[in-house]
Amino acid sequence: MRTDRVIGKNVGVIGAARSGVSAALLLKRYNANVFVSESRKAEQVLESIQLLEANGIEYETGGNTDKVFRSRDYIVVSPGVPATAPIIRQIEDNGIPIISEIELGFWMCDGQIIAITGSNGKTTTTTVIGEIFKHSGETTFVAGNIGSPFCDICNQVPKDGWAVLEISSFQLERCFEFRPDIAVVLNLTPDHLDRYEDFASYAEMKMRISENQDKNDALIVNNDDTYLMRLSAATQAKKYYFSLSDRVSPGAYVDQERLWLDFNGDAHKLLDVADISLPGPHNLANCAAAAVTAVVAGVDEDAIRDVLSTFEGVEHRLEDCGAIGKVKFVNDSKATNVDSVWYALQSVQGKLVTIMGGRDKGSDFTRLRGLVSEHVAAVVLIGEASDKIESAFDELVPIHRAGNMNEAVRLAHNLAMPGNTVLLSPGCASFDMFRDYEDRGRAFKEAIAGLRKEIE
Ligand code: ADP
Repeated sequence: MRTDRVIGKNVGVIGAARSGVSAALLLKRYNANVFVSESRKAEQVLESIQLLEANGIEYETGGNTDKVFRSRDYIVVSPGVPATAPIIRQIEDNGIPIISEIELGFWMCDGQIIAITGSNGKTTTTTVIGEIFKHSGETTFVAGNIGSPFCDICNQVPKDGWAVLEISSFQLERCFEFRPDIAVVLNLTPDHLDRYEDFASYAEMKMRISENQDKNDALIVNNDDTYLMRLSAATQAKKYYFSLSDRVSPGAYVDQERLWLDFNGDAHKLLDVADISLPGPHNLANCAAAAVTAVVAGVDEDAIRDVLSTFEGVEHRLEDCGAIGKVKFVNDSKATNVDSVWYALQSVQGKLVTIMGGRDKGSDFTRLRGLVSEHVAAVVLIGEASDKIESAFDELVPIHRAGNMNEAVRLAHNLAMPGNTVLLSPGCASFDMFRDYEDRGRAFKEAIAGLRKEIE
């Protein structure tokens, strides 16, 4: 632990959301002099303020003044703050170092680190890895972009324990020394093009997860993602692979409906694909990645098998929401980009009535045309992107509009034939109508419950 970088230091923290507050509390615990600056108004961050006050941490709200960077040794910035924010420019102009909350957590962590990134599947894979490690008796903390921020737990992980971290590309910005023992990159598909200049800069940011790794570390990559394979060629780490189509080694692959492990040219079956509890090809890839991670870390194969065959999935990711009569409901509110929808449409059996829309992230919905004509009976659109999605699916399937989630669920249920599934897989961000994707998923489930009460 690099307590020398914290004790007695003067540190500014930008952003009083969860990771900012977590960083501030950690810094304070190690006797740094901390000041938190939040651009939102106090009433929007009341919980954070209470925590800061209870711990005697100074702060400002409703704007960022130079108090946050004057005479500071360095600044910790939350992942939500874009590089183009005026305060960031100002700090850079003043030559003060800016680090991310993940970098700070890394300084203050003695344990072993597994970091999982990619465009899709991070939360699912991180959770599966965490479950496998816990099941096998390892001391394991799951954190990052999921549940608790890294700074909540970094100083609790013992040397032989594991921090299993979900890492977004935003969190890799302003990392300099962060060096996971095991890094996993699941896939690279266009997402967040609203924040990055182009796909190449977004992809490069994801690869920074491996930037400081050396030959004693491991990088696990998706062999089926050609762009990712090309980018990962430069790593110093030892590489491992997972694949749904090729017999890779060292790593895991799917062949003849079985998941195989091959780490020394001697392949053996881990388990049958039919025994994996999560649905869809994308989850098979996530499970293969988790299996490789566990083997690399020395976890026994029984623990991997047990968890892969029983894990029930994470809320809002292809979550089974039961049925009303013969119409089933699936909540995939976390599908905030086109790639996730692409997999969802192939993962749910039978014909679908999909609820889509929300705030567009610069996506190309025409990529879904083939799958929509094959699997979808009707589409119900909500939110800002409705016009764009409607023109992308022009003349493919009947398209309807709804003003809110209740209306959308009711309409979708009416349109569905017995045996069909109503699938919420929006392909968009939620912020035009909801607080976040969880709020949207809950609204979907509440609408189903309301309708069920009326009908049954
Ligand atoms: P992330 O944390 O990267 O957003 P999640 O595990 O939360 O990933 O899943 C987000 C969405 O992407 C869900 O709709 C899920 O069904 C879908 N998904 C999960 N894994 C993958 C994958 N490997 N490729 C594409 N889509 C995926």
